Amino acid sequence: MQESPNNGVFEKTMRSVLAACADCDTCRFLMDESCLFFPELYRLYDKETAEGKPVGDAELRKLSELCTLCGLCPCPNIPADVIRGKTERVRREGVPFGIRLMADVQRFGRWCGMLPGVVNTALAFAPIDRTVKKIAGIHPQRRLPEIARESFFAWAQKKGLSRRSGQSPKAAYFAGCTASYFFPQVAKAAVSVLEKNGVSVFVPRQQCCGMPTLLEGNEHATIQRIGSNLEILMETAGAGYDLVCSCPTCGFLMKVLLKERACYSKVYQRSVHAGADEIKIPDRKAGAEGFVSLNKSMYHKILTDDGYFNALDPLKRIALSDSVMDMGEYLDRLYHKGHLNTHLGRIHDRMVYFTPCHQREQGIGSPYEKLLALIPGLEIVRVGGAMDCCGMGGSLGFKESFYEKSIELGRPLFRKILAAAPEAIITDCLSCRLQFEHLLPYDVFHPLEVLSRAYESADLKPI
Ligand code: SF4
Ligand code: SF4
Repeated sequence: MQESPNNGVFEKTMRSVLAACADCDTCRFLMDESCLFFPELYRLYDKETAEGKPVGDAELRKLSELCTLCGLCPCPNIPADVIRGKTERVRREGVPFGIRLMADVQRFGRWCGMLPGVVNTALAFAPIDRTVKKIAGIHPQRRLPEIARESFFAWAQKKGLSRRSGQSPKAAYFAGCTASYFFPQVAKAAVSVLEKNGVSVFVPRQQCCGMPTLLEGNEHATIQRIGSNLEILMETAGAGYDLVCSCPTCGFLMKVLLKERACYSKVYQRSVHAGADEIKIPDRKAGAEGFVSLNKSMYHKILTDDGYFNALDPLKRIALSDSVMDMGEYLDRLYHKGHLNTHLGRIHDRMVYFTPCHQREQGIGSPYEKLLALIPGLEIVRVGGAMDCCGMGGSLGFKESFYEKSIELGRPLFRKILAAAPEAIITDCLSCRLQFEHLLPYDVFHPLEVLSRAYESADLKPI
């Protein structure tokens, strides 16, 4: 890998990623259809080798934009390094205006949610829609989601869900910004399904999970938001609430990314009584009590808590990661304990179910498939394998520079869905939903909406 004369931290980081993956070469073939980052990385590397000229900084910048942090590639340090590089770049240059406007779902939702009718009417007017997209760097053909007339947070407050209940079982629900501001029907379905199962719901004060700002390299906003959620959610868990979320991206951030490298911290090592010469690492295969012991003198320089979230208390990060449950996982546990309300009405439909990448990466299996199979009359066909991606990449799919690629990346999955010719699509990810609704001729539902509908139809007509 050749040096460029203009090497800042961002460029150096991206060059080291490029050099490591070019040297390894595994993802040249492994990831050629599931990710846009690796095909571009190898294209740049091959060009550099052929022309004998170092890859330019502008090309590195474009390369860094192609990682959606889907978590599918074999080495988690590679996307982590890309984010680290972007973070350094944002530290140096600030967050561009268009990104601040578009990628910050919380801010966008809160602002537009003040006058949703006005915003929706204005955006339905083509010249305004065009102008807004131009300013924000959104592709002209990308359909913008409608702002909810009433956000889920406002609805929950009116319904008294922002007050704690003393009754057990009780769950604190982390809805996420996309559901609250754009798809409140999904968050309301989550509440309804919990209530149908006799669970008292509390909606604690919450900020964006931090994923959109993390992806854009905005470290300040990300740490501030997840730090605030960490304190509130751990305090809520301490008051006896189960913590649940319905957005796989929020879940992936809180359950997987947040605790990365936290177990290498000194405070964690003390808490598990590691000896002076060892580093103890939880052994997932052996269960919660198992550890792998490594020789400290060999590993102490590389096994440190130096990841993205290391400014936050490592013990709290681990505690939150271990406490938060995806709603599918939570309901599946109720089912296995014999506590799930299975009085579900008939739904005569044939729907495909797509497991989104951030749900797959939580390592919880596919709980919704099992739950949906309990609905009488509903035929569920699974579409998409371990490497299939909708291509949306959160807010990246909105970007003018990413739009075409986002469609290209999702095309194999769209073909599979079309071939299955369903009546509707089910997926837990609202980002996938935006992509499917934009490109495919089917309604799209969250599994909780379908479960909620089945409970309602059971109420209407006993089965
Ligand atoms: S992500 Fe890991 S496995 Fe893939 S090319 Fe890079 S170093 Fe190799
Ligand atoms: S996290 Fe996903 S998008 Fe990023 S490099 Fe890995 S496979 Fe590609």
